[in-house]
Parts: sequence; C-alpha cells; structure tokens
Amino acid sequence: MPYELQTGYQTLLESAKQRHSRGPQALSYESVIMYNLPDERGHFGPYGGIFVSETLLHALSELRDAYGTYRQNSEFVEEYERELKHFVGRPSPIYHAKRWSKLLGGAQIYLKREDLNHTGSHKINNVIGQALLARRMGKQRVIAETGAGQHGVATATIAARLSMECVVYMGAADVHRQAANVYRMKLLGATVVPINSGSRTLKDALNEAMRDWVSNVENTFYIIGTVAGPHPYPMMVRNFQCVIGDECRMQMIELVGRQPDAVIACVGGGSNAMGIFYPYINDTSVQLIGVEAAGDGIGTCRHASSLIGGSPGILHGNRTYLLQDKNGQIINTHSISAGLDYPGIGPEHAWLHDTRRAQYVGIRDDETLKAFHDCCHIEGIIPALESSHALAYAAKIAPNLGQDKLLLVNLSGRGDKDMHTVAERAGITF
Ligand SMILES: *Cc1c(COP(=O)(O)O)cnc(C)c1O
Repeated sequence: MPYELQTGYQTLLESAKQRHSRGPQALSYESVIMYNLPDERGHFGPYGGIFVSETLLHALSELRDAYGTYRQNSEFVEEYERELKHFVGRPSPIYHAKRWSKLLGGAQIYLKREDLNHTGSHKINNVIGQALLARRMGKQRVIAETGAGQHGVATATIAARLSMECVVYMGAADVHRQAANVYRMKLLGATVVPINSGSRTLKDALNEAMRDWVSNVENTFYIIGTVAGPHPYPMMVRNFQCVIGDECRMQMIELVGRQPDAVIACVGGGSNAMGIFYPYINDTSVQLIGVEAAGDGIGTCRHASSLIGGSPGILHGNRTYLLQDKNGQIINTHSISAGLDYPGIGPEHAWLHDTRRAQYVGIRDDETLKAFHDCCHIEGIIPALESSHALAYAAKIAPNLGQDKLLLVNLSGRGDKDMHTVAERAGITF
C-alpha cells in the first residue's frame, strides 16, 4: 500500500470510529443539510420501521441493543477494521477509467473497485460486521438467504473464518441457476437448503430464513445481505457498508483534489448504493444516482425497478416501495442480473427518492450487456452484471458532460459469477 494511502486510511479509521461512537443522530459534515435518519424506531420518513410477528420483536430488540452497544465499543470497531484490512484487502482503490472516458468524449469516469474485495463484491463488508456482532452476542449459528449466491458465499466465508455453523436458504430455481456458488458455499462448510415454495427464488428463501430465525433465536443470528428488513437492519447494514464512501472521500482528494460531481451505484436492495451515498449525503454539491434494473423496459412487466415502477407497501418487515399488483400481491421480477432481481428496495432509498436527494433511473438488460462488454474490452475489467447497470448509466450521460466533470461509479463486484449468463445470451455454451 502506498504510504499516502495508508496515512489516509488511518484518518479514515478515525472518522469511521467517530461515526460508530457518536451514534446515528450525530453526523457532522461541513454541510448544507443535516441528515440524521433513521429515528429511534427505524423510520426514514414514512418508510422503514418494524413490521414483524410478535415472536420476532424480542430478537430484534436484542439485536438493536447489542448493535447499539458494540458500535461504540472501540475493541469491536478495531476488530472490524482489522478484518476489512487483512481479510478483505481494504481499502479498495479508485481507478480512473481513462481510455473509456476518452472514447466517450465527455466526463471522466472513476471506478470504486469493490470487485477487488475478497469473495468478489461489497457484500463481505457487511457480513463481517454482522458475524463479529453475532459472536459477541454469543450466537454460534448464522443463517442467511441468497439469490445469486453472492451473499451466501460471503456468509459461508466468514462463518468458516470464525468457526460458526452456517445455513443458507436459497430458492430451488436459484440453486439450479447458480450451481458454482452453491458448490463454493459447500466447500466453505455451509449447509445450503433449497426452497421449493412460491416462485422458488429469493423472496421465498427470505421467508424461510425468517421462519428459521423465529424457531432458533436463542443460538442463531440472521445475517441480512442488504439494507432491507426490519429495523435495525437497514441502518446497521448501511453503517457497515459506509466504509466504501468513507474511503472514496479520502481517495478522491488524494487522486484529483476534489469530490466527484456525481456518485452512481446500482440498486437491488440498495446496500452498495447506501454505502457509497451516505458519506456524501450532506454534501449537496454531489449528485447521487441510483440505477435500477429495467429488464426488458419499465413499460413491459419484465423489470425489477421498485422505485420507478412500484408503489409503497410492506415487504419483509419494513415499509418501502415494492412491485405489487392491485391486490398487494408481489409481482414476479425480471433482471439479467440475479443480484438486482428483488421486488423491494431498502426504505432509506424510498425516502431519498421522495425527498429528491437522490435520483433513480432504470437501465435495461441490453444496455447493461453493452456496458459489460465495453468495460471488458476497453478497461480490462470484467464487471458484475449488477455493477454493469451503473457503468451503463455513466457511459450514457458522460458524452453530454464537460471533460472537467467527474463521475464516481461504484463497481460493486466482479463478473466471474456471470460468465454463464453472458455466454448464454451470446449463444455460447461451455
Ligand atoms: C448483491 C449485489 C448487488 C445488489 O445488492 P445491493 O444491496 O443493492 O448492493 C449489487 N452488486 C453486486 C456485485 C452484488 O453481488
């Protein structure tokens, strides 16, 4: 690690430590707005909150208390930061996509390289935080739900690292589609449970994980993979992912001497986006842009754009925007990227959308694939299909902006897991 970056990282640790110890109510950037959500009960305006059965209330209040205690515990925070540095490989660099920017002929595109993290995406940042918390709470068993398998792999990885029992729930359709990740989890010692109910995908796995948690709450910690679920999950996951944006604020100064004009991130549940948005939230000169999966197009019924195409309702323990029919039944979603294929979105995004602090746009499958291939050819980086949505939007707006404008894109993960999907689209089998 270059000396300067290391110095920057020390300052970063300080600022992260301060955030952890000051609690959610006291962010103080030199700012125009003072954003301090959620409130005590987990509300982001009318969104968020706790909508669960009585049996889970106790587990959630135990979690809230434990997180409230340990986020201020310097030993805990230091252990978390140590794992991020030595096990994950943080800080992840910011890379100037010079050739691509030049070819597009407008704004300069910078990539935050979460794809270089151990296990290949940003998910590990949050999983390590929750697993360390689980251990402090005396829970020996962790459970998780997974769609594409990335969150499952990250959870199985940290469970192996900390010698914990690990059970991962996965829709049977996804088990079939994501065979390599299923095998990875098994290699790491996890038990993968295929779910055959409903559409046999992520939302069914989520229901099953909740059921497991209710029955085994004494010794079990439920590691949720995104900024969704009942309070305190959206806040806690966001805070663990904030390491992304905290690093960016340091690194942009080191690299170019100023913050970007816009930060762009793909949004499934919304954790990589919240992690890079949040440290910029009070800095209103920085535009925040979330990119949803528009599938075949928002006008078709085959997409996964909960904010642009959905309406408020209650899903998985919180109030947020979701894709539902007239009777409140969840609509089946579609996206080329399994990681964005979720009918809801984190409640904080719902609030940022309504208040216009962030803008949300849709990118279709075909636009995503073009950006995926361009990034491979031009920059020598194979991006995840999820992240390719954010890349596609940056490539779409860059030509219309001046060459002095800076776009910072969160490259949330690497594309190794997507080889089969991309090859299939090209009519290739291997
Ligand atoms: C899971 C995943 C996402 C979507 O999840 P968010 O919570 O919206 O960040 C995005 N990118 C990658 C690489 C993922 O694995």
